[in-house]
Amino acid sequence: MTDAFDDLLSANRHFAENFSLSGFDGVARAGVAVVTCMDSRIDPMGMIGLSPGDAKIFRNPGGRVTDAALEALILGVHLLNVGRILVVPHTRCAMASSTLEELRERVGDSAGQDASWQHFGVVEDQRAALDEDVQRVKSHPLIPGHIAVGGFLYDVDTGLLEPVV
Ligand SMILES: [Zn+2]
Repeated sequence: MTDAFDDLLSANRHFAENFSLSGFDGVARAGVAVVTCMDSRIDPMGMIGLSPGDAKIFRNPGGRVTDAALEALILGVHLLNVGRILVVPHTRCAMASSTLEELRERVGDSAGQDASWQHFGVVEDQRAALDEDVQRVKSHPLIPGHIAVGGFLYDVDTGLLEPVV
């Protein structure tokens, strides 16, 4: 273990001084699950007025409904009180503004070695992909029909969510 994490562990000790989730069972108190991008401009709970304990959050590059995202949503719906699911890609997302070749080239340059074999889930048409992702959740046999599923585009310049699907 290096000292690369010292500042973070120090911050964690302060965090723990006022820790309020002790003993909490980990359900989504507000019944919400969000699938969104890993982008650091997104505060997935803050943007919809929620706090830790309220929602299940699943993030990946692009905010896509991958198999792993579906796994999380199914567990959320059946075991963790989730009744509403938001799929939230965002404006100016690198996954939607780069081609696969561009990403592989940039990563390859940074790594100093070939990255042409690495998968990156680039998105050509963000709205079409969102529609597809929402349908993928809705049509899953383990996601019951009464679960509300919505697709929204988050604007990283205004903080607003635009309902799309
Ligand atoms: Zn993104």
